[in-house]
Amino acid sequence: MVSFDFSSEHAAFADTLKTFAARELLPHYRDRSASMEFPFEAFKQLGDLGVLGIGLPEEFGGTGEEDPVLLGLATEVLAAGDVNIASAPVQIGLVGSQFLHCDRAVQERYLPPLIRGEETVAIALTEPGSGSDASALRTSATKVDGGWRLSGEKTAISWAMNATATLVYARTPGTTRSQGISCFVVPMDSEGVSAHHMLGMGCLPLGWGSIHFDDVFIPEDHLVGEEGRGFHTVMNHFDFSRAALGLLCLGAAQQSLNEAVQYAKDRQTFGKPLTEYQGVSFLIAEHTTMLEAARWICYRALWLRATGQPHTALASMGKWWPPQVAKNAIEAAMRIHGNLGYAAEFPLQQRYRDVTAYLIADGTAEIQKRIIAGDVFRRGTVSL
Ligand SMILES: Cc1cc2nc3c(=O)[nH]c(=O)nc-3n(C[C@H](O)[C@H](O)[C@H](O)COP(=O)(O)OP(=O)(O)OC[C@H]3O[C@@H](n4cnc5c(N)ncnc54)[C@H](O)[C@@H]3O)c2cc1C
Repeated sequence: MVSFDFSSEHAAFADTLKTFAARELLPHYRDRSASMEFPFEAFKQLGDLGVLGIGLPEEFGGTGEEDPVLLGLATEVLAAGDVNIASAPVQIGLVGSQFLHCDRAVQERYLPPLIRGEETVAIALTEPGSGSDASALRTSATKVDGGWRLSGEKTAISWAMNATATLVYARTPGTTRSQGISCFVVPMDSEGVSAHHMLGMGCLPLGWGSIHFDDVFIPEDHLVGEEGRGFHTVMNHFDFSRAALGLLCLGAAQQSLNEAVQYAKDRQTFGKPLTEYQGVSFLIAEHTTMLEAARWICYRALWLRATGQPHTALASMGKWWPPQVAKNAIEAAMRIHGNLGYAAEFPLQQRYRDVTAYLIADGTAEIQKRIIAGDVFRRGTVSL
């Protein structure tokens, strides 16, 4: 028998987060999003709720074993309150999974404050000359006595302006493609590190920026995992976390549609509520259908990961389609609100700008389609 239910533990946790998102996040989302101030207060609240340690070791304050479905559910529910804050469990899950390959002292230094929401760690992979083609990166890591020296530039990095440290992907000089790429934990106060703000159309509080590394010394124990294997380590976690980002976009879109439904009930034109017009009600029906279909792609990808089955293609489907579906649904909700949908005092336009980031961040639609097509050609199908 197939079951589409969440476990009772997952459902109870989601209920707690739903209440938190509605009471604590949503009322201040618009104001927070218009500011460059990193939302540490809200992060600490997430830390208290246990959201930032999903799948990370209990000894550092996490929930224990990897739980992809819970990660997706938490992200979706939080996004109804604040798109930017909802990205935290995914980013910290990704960062935390890399720390699992670190020396004990480095784990002890970074994981507890990360899981408590007191500090952040950025992920610096993209460079001015390499984004989609990440393995073409040029930042260099040269072996010296007691460690490495890093030089290069990273760009478009979330949390760059607020991070205590960043995971930096750099290559041994003379190597090509993914061979020879290692990952390092680089404290942002190291000599030779400088960060510069980049202004995006949304996601303002997330401190998006470029980071320069000018002959930065990194001690030996700050290497993540094996030398030359950094690219493989990060890609293993990146694949399923993409479906959680799809759910982030869908949570924001569902909230927008819910607001449009309420508005359509309340607003009268030509003597009738908007719900009486098929031009409005069919829009709601169509976008509700799309959101529902997209949701189940994401949850199926996460469930496949949780049950140890091939999930990469499904996770890529959950990254290219849901952000587009979500953006379309938010736009429909804006149109149903008429001029109020465009007004800066309401959250719809903010969600539209924040969700647009995920058409690009963490891999564009074209790159996800390459992954899906590769899987289809290799295995003949993506279904079980
Ligand atoms: C809000 C935001 C947050 C981000 N946060 C981070 C972060 O924290 N850390 C980090 O490392 N990076 C981050 N990024 C960078 C992001 O991962 C890259 O922007 C993304 O991978 C695309 O790379 P690019 O910008 O260099 O575009 P390019 O790779 O130059 O691509 C340009 C266009 O060409 C298309 N294209 C490229 N290759 C192909 C192909 N083979 N077939 C078809 N089409 C192709 C792309 O889809 C895209 O439309 C973030 C980006 C954004 C917008």
